[in-house]
Amino acid sequence: MYKTHVLFSLFAALFLVACSSDTTPTGAGNTGVDLSKTYNWKMVTTWPANFPIFQEGAEKFADDVKTMSSGRLDIQVYAGGELVPALQVFDAVSSGVVEMGHGSPYYWAGVVPAAQFFSSVPFGMSAKGMNAWLYNGGGLELWREIYQPYNLIAFPMGNTGVQMGGWFNKPINSVEDLKGLRMRIPGLGGKVLKKAGGNPVLMAGGEIYTALDRGTIDATEWVAPFHDMRLGLNRAANYYYYPGWHEPGTVFELMINSNKWQTLTPELQKIVETAAAATSEWIYAQMEFNNQQALAELRTKQNVQIQPFPDEVLLELQRMTQQTLDEEAAANPEFKKVYDAYETFRQSYGLWETISEEAFQDSLRLQ
Ligand code: CA
Repeated sequence: MYKTHVLFSLFAALFLVACSSDTTPTGAGNTGVDLSKTYNWKMVTTWPANFPIFQEGAEKFADDVKTMSSGRLDIQVYAGGELVPALQVFDAVSSGVVEMGHGSPYYWAGVVPAAQFFSSVPFGMSAKGMNAWLYNGGGLELWREIYQPYNLIAFPMGNTGVQMGGWFNKPINSVEDLKGLRMRIPGLGGKVLKKAGGNPVLMAGGEIYTALDRGTIDATEWVAPFHDMRLGLNRAANYYYYPGWHEPGTVFELMINSNKWQTLTPELQKIVETAAAATSEWIYAQMEFNNQQALAELRTKQNVQIQPFPDEVLLELQRMTQQTLDEEAAANPEFKKVYDAYETFRQSYGLWETISEEAFQDSLRLQ
């Protein structure tokens, strides 16, 4: 009886709220939401214009937010170079020149070395582990703490899945074959290759095909079959190696200027947060779908040999990864702090992964 009364009161209250927002000309009802206020925001990305899945994901996010907010939060998306150069996204959002950005945290390693843990680490966690750590294991809180001095708030918004090891113009049979190898490979992966005797080269996506085709570089990594074929890399080199030890599940980020974020009403903030999570899932699913399709197509190309790195090479790269991370941690306390948190979670998660995903995959190979 009492419950019925409470419910009735609740419905009555909701009815009154609904009526009041109808009758208030400004649209400001008892909910505290000013329905007349609109926000016209800008988002800059690190991706080339029309870049499939990545730039598409940023544009889909903006569309979703506009629809869910009935047009009250209208985000104009600009690809890299359209408003600011791709690698100035961090600065543009941090300084408030624009409200939002989309990219991946390891692009800012020069400013915030610890940010690399929120992208991808050689031999680190894949998409599932990263999601578990970021959303539930304290990773996202740590990420926001690291970005706070830059006036930025971060949200995960995409994952590439496990990338490929890259394209090589000669077979890699032993550690010796890495010596002197000129390979386009950025970030921590590049540092690891250097320790193993290679020559990492930095190069924007648009230059890779020509450099590999002309022999300016001997090898390159890019993403995975779908994006690699779009770049035509299968026409520039014959050996395609896996796995992408250097990028086992690269996370993308939505970054928002903290001051601008605080001007949004709570329900617009919730819309942004929810749309970012949905886009994250959309990008990851797009990657897994398109890569399996592109792989099937690649397997029909007579000139391409798709093969795993020899165990010996992977073991050497793992050893060099450990050294690289330890050296970076010794030189930078913030890097060490995030590294410790990441490692603690990775090891704990690894125990579960071994007897769940890995054991299941092993069981399929028994046939
Ligand atoms: Ca890559």
